Amino acid sequence: MRYLFTALVLVISFQNICAQDHSWFYEEHEKYKEINIYDRFFKHADIKPMIQSLDLHPGFEVLSVGKSIQGKSIHLVKWGHGPEKILMWTQMHGNEPTATMAVMDIFNFLKSGDHAEFKSDLAERVTLLFMPMLNPDGAEVYKRRNAIDVDLNRDARRLQSPESKILKTVRDRYDPQFGFNLHDQSLYYGAGNSGKPVAIAFLAPAYNEAKEVNEVRLNSMKLIAQLNEIMQEYVPGKVAKFNDTFEPRAFGDNIQKWGTSTILIESGGLLDDPEKQYLRKLHFVMLMSSFVSIAHGDFQNYSRKAYETIPMNRISIFDLLITEAEVITKNHTFILDLGYRNQAVFSDGPRGTLRVKSQLADVGDLSTFSGYQVFDASGYQIRRAKLYGRIFEDLEELINTNWFELIKIGYGHFRVKKEVHGDLEAILPFRILKQDESLPEFPAIGENAALLMEKDGRIQYLIANGKMHDLDNFKKE
Ligand SMILES: [Zn+2]
Repeated sequence: MRYLFTALVLVISFQNICAQDHSWFYEEHEKYKEINIYDRFFKHADIKPMIQSLDLHPGFEVLSVGKSIQGKSIHLVKWGHGPEKILMWTQMHGNEPTATMAVMDIFNFLKSGDHAEFKSDLAERVTLLFMPMLNPDGAEVYKRRNAIDVDLNRDARRLQSPESKILKTVRDRYDPQFGFNLHDQSLYYGAGNSGKPVAIAFLAPAYNEAKEVNEVRLNSMKLIAQLNEIMQEYVPGKVAKFNDTFEPRAFGDNIQKWGTSTILIESGGLLDDPEKQYLRKLHFVMLMSSFVSIAHGDFQNYSRKAYETIPMNRISIFDLLITEAEVITKNHTFILDLGYRNQAVFSDGPRGTLRVKSQLADVGDLSTFSGYQVFDASGYQIRRAKLYGRIFEDLEELINTNWFELIKIGYGHFRVKKEVHGDLEAILPFRILKQDESLPEFPAIGENAALLMEKDGRIQYLIANGKMHDLDNFKKE
């Protein structure tokens, strides 16, 4: 009985994976998550030893396929020996690291002793070709471009950067059936007109101006249709597809042209996931599910039509959107929407403290836009907060005054002689100005004036640095 039970459990767990049960990958991800990578700012030096050590594990082959401009080694990690070759390159844009994290987790899964039967079946059917962190010089300083400021994704024809040459050489050497072009996109894309921020965006890139669909491109569309179906379970309504205008200089478009079915995946944004750890998990699920689908040809059950129903990626999201406020300015009253966007700024070097600077990104009728946070301000009056007359020596002196009482009577800008550390400024419920700085304009795009929100003659909220502070709940700390 016990043996039968054990056998049954084995069969069930094996079938689970064979049945492409993506929920299995979802549940199991945590177990294989590479714990030494936990935010977006890891470097080549962090992953290099992990990649090189894979060579010691059976089933893996690690090849050094070239060096970046600054001499950092770029690796090709091979696993499996099946006829279906799948090439994946991550982080060709240095500040787009989500897929690299997921690939490190996939390595942990593949090298573990678990699910041997599933893995040996997969290895018979596919050859996985991973190129993690194609742009290590960009990743070093967390920027998009490489060390000579070339965008590698516009260098597919001219191939002037060593990193681009390496990708082209590897593609040509293996001539894979599938290619995964793995990126991160702006946080401000929405899915069609739904108002939902995009968590995952796809594209089956065009291979010519006419945007024709041959079998190579059709296969990318079909696989994307399957991945979309899977993602709808985890991030419903937050999946979109990129515009397919042909970009003759981009790698995705050219690799499609060279005969590899290419799938662009872009990680977008999710509220409460600034380090993209949930999106990393979804990437793990998508890539693992793709391997199984390609191994068994499951993507053939999906259609071009299903791909085409995925909504378009459209820049339509703010971090904070305040709608239909009665804005009092320049002796007039206007009904306006205010859209704020944050910008991540490093206060001291890319591994230093990350701070968020917010600014007014748009103003007017923003009814076709949405936000991670949306506040319906109808019935509220908004005006710029007043500038307090006294100039403080430093932040400490300001903090030690009755600033909370001053806020309640309409002050929101304070001048301080000594420079205030940026991290602090980002969280304060008021704006700090330099000794000789004048009041920021309002409303003015690119500015960030502190604002008061009043209802029935009483100040209820203060908006500073892109955050709304509820004065009733605000405790002076
Ligand atoms: Zn990119």
